[in-house]
Amino acid sequence: MTESKKQFDTAIELLRDARRIVVFSGAGLSKASGIPTYRDADGLWMNQSAVRFSHVDDLERDPAGFSKFWARRLAVVEAAKPNPGHLALAQLQRLRPSTRLITQNVDGLLTLAGGMDVLELHGSLRRWRCDHCGNRRGPWLFHRCTRCGSRARPDVVMFGEMLNQGVLLDAQTAALEADVFVVVGSTAVVYPAADLPLQALSRGGRLITLNMEPLHLDTSASAVLRGASEDLMPRLLASLNYSSTTLGK
Ligand code: ZN
Repeated sequence: MTESKKQFDTAIELLRDARRIVVFSGAGLSKASGIPTYRDADGLWMNQSAVRFSHVDDLERDPAGFSKFWARRLAVVEAAKPNPGHLALAQLQRLRPSTRLITQNVDGLLTLAGGMDVLELHGSLRRWRCDHCGNRRGPWLFHRCTRCGSRARPDVVMFGEMLNQGVLLDAQTAALEADVFVVVGSTAVVYPAADLPLQALSRGGRLITLNMEPLHLDTSASAVLRGASEDLMPRLLASLNYSSTTLGK
């Protein structure tokens, strides 16, 4: 048996026996949907306007430029479709309804794939809000709040801003209760991404990592899967489905 087959089988076994699965996903999950990652040298995030419009202070400095930039980002996200990785995670949740999905992605693709109650740590580009009056409902004509006329902004955590504490608390609780914590397409080096797998491990949860490149977390993982999530997640699901059916679980 090859090492990668052994790791794959271990992952199936862990998922099959788990009562509570938590899947934490990052940019790698959405790459096959055409959403550029932060670290891509040619990615949207690294170009000049991304640097100019990703901090909370930019909203005051250049409100028109800010709205324009984020509207363009939204157009990229709205043109994207969930890939087999997203769809497999939504299927996992249908197979195991106690599964929690946590993501760093702001593209909303997990929800679009059928994922339920997705914990979006960094918010969603698909929602806008007005910080002036608290309005969270559109329509946002010319990116203006229709209630008070102030400029609306995407419901995304910018640099210099706090994460939504409610979402963070739910993610931490889910991590602490997880038997199996799966990291998919995230380097999990930035807070709180770095903390959540450790919280799961601290309560005896087992860790599975699935990523293109090696992660520092691999040394703590019970199973390390190397490859693309749009390829590996559907394979995992197919095997899990099969073994669940045959074992009557
Ligand atoms: Zn308003």
